[in-house]
Amino acid sequence: MRRFDTVLKLERATTRIVVGTGLLGEVGARTAALDLDRRALVITDETVGELYGADVLGGLDEAGFAHGLLTLPAGDRSKSLASAERAFEMLASMRLGRDGVVIGLGGGMVTDLAGFVGATWLRGVATVLCPTTLEADVDAAIGGKTAVNLPFGKNLVGAFHHPRLVLADTACLGSLGDRDLSAGLAESVKHAAITPGDFLAWHEANADAILARDDDVLVELVRRNMEIKGEVVARDERETTGARAMLNYGHTIGHALESAGTFSLRHGECVSIGMVAAGWIACELGMLDGEEAERIERLLRRFNLPVRLPESETFSANAGDFRSSAARFDSVRDYLSRDKKVVGGVVRFVLLNGLGQPVLRDDVGEALIRKAIERIG
Ligand code: MG
Repeated sequence: MRRFDTVLKLERATTRIVVGTGLLGEVGARTAALDLDRRALVITDETVGELYGADVLGGLDEAGFAHGLLTLPAGDRSKSLASAERAFEMLASMRLGRDGVVIGLGGGMVTDLAGFVGATWLRGVATVLCPTTLEADVDAAIGGKTAVNLPFGKNLVGAFHHPRLVLADTACLGSLGDRDLSAGLAESVKHAAITPGDFLAWHEANADAILARDDDVLVELVRRNMEIKGEVVARDERETTGARAMLNYGHTIGHALESAGTFSLRHGECVSIGMVAAGWIACELGMLDGEEAERIERLLRRFNLPVRLPESETFSANAGDFRSSAARFDSVRDYLSRDKKVVGGVVRFVLLNGLGQPVLRDDVGEALIRKAIERIG
């Protein structure tokens, strides 16, 4: 059985990262090895708790932990201040002190929320993240971004707080729905697109094995993604140097689609379409050649990801009939200017100046953005 065990050293924190199959049974022992107080609050959702809760709680019992369990309804709506408040109430009644641990078991919703609870309880306690989806493995669990949503927008309240330990049990990927696996693969293709090296070719060579959920290949997939994400985060721990901004490849239009749409599309599916739009813009600007853009699009298709807006997607926009391209543009454009990445009213794009060479551009003209949105329509 393949296992990877590595330490991500950051300026303000150190995260131990373990990737392999069958790790959930070891959460208790590995958390105990952090040498903290044996009190832990586990946060999970109903779907994941049902599947894996017993493994984790059993291990915590064996390791002598007093533990609480907060099980939230699955879905992004649970990533709320109300959920955090429920966690705080449990932490208070458990008398979980500075040396206690908050454990997040689940996808990105759970790891973001558990991270937020860990970041804020007593001004910060240790967190252990056990991502169970590919999206959380390759993206959410690494990098210390924690947050809850507000009714006004997503991830508006949060803090940087790195987990002490990330345990990515790739056996969990066996229970993921096909669409969720593909949504996670979109972030993986993104990492490949913005990183020099052979990761794009690796995806192409291993596409069948990835989709067949071959154990060894999934371990390698998650390991390589975590390595890339960790390396970018190490260069830009608090999102100040610009290195981390490159992780937003495909996310400018992707996020706008996600916000303007009616949530029938997953985050990764929006990012997939966003990468196609960004690829097309880069081609128009002479930065990327058609064959390179086509190579990414082909890989996204191979992973069953959408590369155009599906006909069925309706939009909550003010703009009425979204089928008309003008209305579609207005709606997406409106959300583009509300994005957190907008600085001084200018929409910033991450574009590829050749594969593996991302650059930030804030000079993409309105006409080009319009054409890109039409093109993915
Ligand atoms: Mg993302």
